[in-house]
Amino acid sequence: MAGQKRATIRKMQPKLSVRTGDQVEVISGKDRGKRGTITEVRPTENRVIVEGVNMVKRHLRRQPNALQAGIIDMPAPLSRSNVMLICPNCGETTRVSHTTLPNGKRARICKHCTEILDKEQ
Ligand SMILES: [Zn+2]
Repeated sequence: MAGQKRATIRKMQPKLSVRTGDQVEVISGKDRGKRGTITEVRPTENRVIVEGVNMVKRHLRRQPNALQAGIIDMPAPLSRSNVMLICPNCGETTRVSHTTLPNGKRARICKHCTEILDKEQ
């Protein structure tokens, strides 16, 4: 074999360094300091939805198919740059770097304690 060709065309799909289920801390905005779990990631918008953070009230008119009517609280998307990942190992807010595991898969590691954050994969 003449060696593998390096992929020169990178996929342009944006990828965020946080994922659904990650614990994050809000670092700006009215909910600064709050911690929560990511319930949704929207890479195309560079936004995340964090449980219990950035709650907004929605006024819903009663509709035939709607389950709820009236005023309900729901979390609004936050910019990814307004949250920081909390390392499950050292418990600190951290940035992530990436590494390649022996099995060839990419994994995120904590910049503080260099612990691998994606062990289950
Ligand atoms: Zn850590």
